[in-house]
Amino acid sequence: MSSTTLNMSPDLHKYLIDHSLRDFPIAKDLRQETQKLTMGRMQISPEQGQLMAFLIRLTSSKRAIEVGTFTGYSALSVAMALPEDGYLLACDVSDEWTSIGRKYWSKAGVAHKIDLHLAPALDTLSGRLATERETFDFAFIDADKLNYDGYYELCLKLLKKGGLILVDNVLWGGSVIDPTEQDEDTVAIRKLNAKIHQDDRVDVSMLPIGDGLTLVRKR
Ligand code: CA
Repeated sequence: MSSTTLNMSPDLHKYLIDHSLRDFPIAKDLRQETQKLTMGRMQISPEQGQLMAFLIRLTSSKRAIEVGTFTGYSALSVAMALPEDGYLLACDVSDEWTSIGRKYWSKAGVAHKIDLHLAPALDTLSGRLATERETFDFAFIDADKLNYDGYYELCLKLLKKGGLILVDNVLWGGSVIDPTEQDEDTVAIRKLNAKIHQDDRVDVSMLPIGDGLTLVRKR
């Protein structure tokens, strides 16, 4: 029995999917439409979407934030897991990408739970501080990496005690351990990873799912 993480071969990953993913037609259709885009690889994996839905239910979350909606797969996963009166504040700057998601949110009957804001997320989230501080249960951060720290700080303020933040792409294709990678995105991710590790405002767990996903619980 090794203490390291199992190496996920393609066959083993297929087994994991075959024995845990509960797929449904609308999700499958949205994934397929997104995969046709050149940026399609930005979409979260279906097993990550299922994990997010699981965490929404586990925490009985009612109010959620998403920073970086892209074509709406994570918002679909979250909104379907939220209760009927649940609320998801979805932040993105692309009408083109999010309009793909909106079609599927409607088809799935969850569009009424999703409040999409097409504006820089730092502005959208800052604008909520005055009246909605400590009112959210859940946040998913998956947008431009340069602003990750800003998103993290704003989400912490908007979250209730015990609330959960998910930070995506924290292993950044493995670049975080490659000293020759010094581009702004990689440096920003490394900095936030180091900060969260030592941040006594939160509990933390970093998962090797997808491109790396950090779970943060506000103390
Ligand atoms: Ca991502």
